[in-house]
Amino acid sequence: YNKSETHTHMYKIVLVGDAGVGKTHIINRYVKGQLPHAIIPTIGIEFATKTVTLRDGGTIKTQIWDTAGQEKYRSITSAHYRKAVGALLVYDVTKEKSFESIQRWLEEIRLHADKDIVLMLVGNKVDLIHKNPEQRKVSKIEATNFAKQNGLLFEESSALFDVNINDVFERLLEEIYDQK
Ligand code: GDP
Ligand code: MG
Repeated sequence: YNKSETHTHMYKIVLVGDAGVGKTHIINRYVKGQLPHAIIPTIGIEFATKTVTLRDGGTIKTQIWDTAGQEKYRSITSAHYRKAVGALLVYDVTKEKSFESIQRWLEEIRLHADKDIVLMLVGNKVDLIHKNPEQRKVSKIEATNFAKQNGLLFEESSALFDVNINDVFERLLEEIYDQK
């Protein structure tokens, strides 16, 4: 059957990663020009929505969940992960510690999310490296290997200069769509 003719799919995507790596900027960059954040005040979670047309013409409604700063205290609730079909694990290419944390974010996802969630590792702030190569603290090889070992897609991005932001979501959504 042709998936594109059935109905509009709703995909929940979550972002995780240490505070300051650029999660909120990535979301804002991706959904720019679309609806502003919808806020659910009672549970302190924010999400943005964007409607996307995929390669085969299928329409996807994405619901992209940001954290509301709880990552600082590692107190993201299981509601953040519930029913998520995709996740971006974000680190900062100039901050070694934010890459080391990815292991723990991965464990948290494995604990709370569905088994078949599609995951992508995202090394953000590559613009800083273009300015000064010495700022790179996580090599592309190291991240690529980690991604391979853990079954993650991988991209480097800059939310500030709009590098690969659309690609990140497009690859993730196509992968989820192919698996459904
Ligand atoms: P979050 O805590 O993960 O949501 O991170 P934010 O999106 O709030 O960003 C934290 C800081 O990093 C802000 O000062 C942003 O301006 C900066 N930032 C975010 N993305 C980029 C990027 O791609 N490049 C650079 N140079 N700075 C960025
Ligand atoms: Mg944020």
